[in-house]
Amino acid sequence: MAGVRVRLIPNLPNAFYNYDKGEILLGITNPAVLAHEIEHADNIQQDSLYSNMLRIAEGVSRVNNVAAIPTMLALRLFINDPERRDDILKTLSGLSAAVAAPGLVEEASATTRALKHNPGHRLEMLKTLGPAYMMHLARGLAPSLVYQAGRSA
Ligand SMILES: [Zn+2]
Repeated sequence: MAGVRVRLIPNLPNAFYNYDKGEILLGITNPAVLAHEIEHADNIQQDSLYSNMLRIAEGVSRVNNVAAIPTMLALRLFINDPERRDDILKTLSGLSAAVAAPGLVEEASATTRALKHNPGHRLEMLKTLGPAYMMHLARGLAPSLVYQAGRSA
């Protein structure tokens, strides 16, 4: 099983776990962020099947983030039967949420564990990790909401 590298990047305004390369990219020396990323590394290192599943879900999710709006607009343009169109949009919305779920669960797990392992700094850490999770959530659920918005009913 491959180890997890930590790569320091001076001008990166954040830190994240790169699922594709199995490394942590660390741009700032915020202890809360580092604690969160260490939990990712720990979660992922323990189970290569889990790591592969996350990588695939992340990949599909990333494509979906880009494709959702044009797909929804194309469906509205080319499928004239509103009932059939709504069925397709509803299915795509559900699939989008399903594909985003593993990454969101992993983010929540890394944050929860980071808070648990650093009991003295919980409030401080939450100020950083709370908004970061909200961003993950917004980005993860955006395609699902786009497909929902495209429905006529
Ligand atoms: Zn994370």
